[in-house]
Amino acid sequence: MSTVTLKDVTKVFRDGTLAVDSINLDVNDGEFMVLLGPSGCGKSTVLRMIAGLEDPTTGAVMLDGELANDLPPRDRKIAMVFQDFALYPHMTVGDNIAFPLRLAGIEPEPRGERVSDVASALGIGDVLARKPGQLSGGQRQRVAMGRAIVRRPGLFLMDEPLSNLDSGLRAELRAEISGLTRELGVTTVYVTHDQAEALTMADRVAIMRRGVLQDVGTPTQVYGRPATLYVAAFLGSPRMNLLEASVYVHLDRYVTLNLGDQSLYLPWNDIRSRAVAHYHGERIVVGMRAEALTPVSPDSPGDVLRGRIRYLEHHGHESLAFLDIGATAIMVDEMGAPLEPPPVGQRGLRRFGSVMQRLTGKPVEP
Ligand code: ATP
Repeated sequence: MSTVTLKDVTKVFRDGTLAVDSINLDVNDGEFMVLLGPSGCGKSTVLRMIAGLEDPTTGAVMLDGELANDLPPRDRKIAMVFQDFALYPHMTVGDNIAFPLRLAGIEPEPRGERVSDVASALGIGDVLARKPGQLSGGQRQRVAMGRAIVRRPGLFLMDEPLSNLDSGLRAELRAEISGLTRELGVTTVYVTHDQAEALTMADRVAIMRRGVLQDVGTPTQVYGRPATLYVAAFLGSPRMNLLEASVYVHLDRYVTLNLGDQSLYLPWNDIRSRAVAHYHGERIVVGMRAEALTPVSPDSPGDVLRGRIRYLEHHGHESLAFLDIGATAIMVDEMGAPLEPPPVGQRGLRRFGSVMQRLTGKPVEP
């Protein structure tokens, strides 16, 4: 059992840098929590405070429900893996992984068994006799993880462990890491600035910006119903289309959404109407993901936005169309790349999805 609770945790460094600003966060037992945000937003500082390597300036770090602010790192039952992991170069892989067990006074026989279990789970069972210098980068990182996890920590803390590896290896290892931690049931806090890593590995993602926690939720929640405009713009590639709009609810029960010089008429029972109806008479920001928009012919009836294709970008499995719709430009994902590029020019657009909400404020449940 291992849980982490941060209560109003703030960190101000001696030089006055406010690195973490009143963060509240709960990490559940066995959960894989990813801290995501741009460089310098305070992710590592949060991790280091959980590890006991930095003291919070104010607030409480609680481990398993107990206040841990004054608990030394060695008493926290945690293991850490960093980006620039250091292995002992003169020791074999097996001895590197066994090292923490030797320090803990575990007998050679159970020690050997635990090392070979961890090594085979990480796919490095056949290189135990080698020295770190004879390994690839990915294998070295697996050894570092093996060494961290062999003591069966209650809490596993990882700070950008994959950032020095090439992209193929990163994708492979991220599946392995999340598989392994889930298999072991170990609570994990994982720091990254890579949103693909965050969205594929996390049970929940905590998104930070300038020391402030912006949103916490499952990958589907933070992607589909971001809590703030910042998260909406930060998550997803291509970026979410964000358009200013005004809302009018008509008494005969339909909703007009005015986007620049175009209007959409949404029937009352449409999920999108219910999402925006509270904002009658207000200006809001509407978020539409490219993949939630479907290109249709310009004379299609219904809730169609009209735009002119500025250019198309082909990505193999999909194409992105960049459109001007009046004063604004948006992106549309054309599912299944067409063999021939469609003619550039006038096209209709419709069926933007259910990600509409007032992004300037709290998320709105339809
Ligand atoms: P990165 O992804 O680049 O590692 P991060 O999100 O992990 O960034 P932190 O390393 O937590 O960010 O740093 C948060 C802020 O605190 C940054 O402005 C950083 O410069 C500052 N900072 C970190 N450590 C110290 C320190 N020891 N003294 C003063 N400022 C610090």
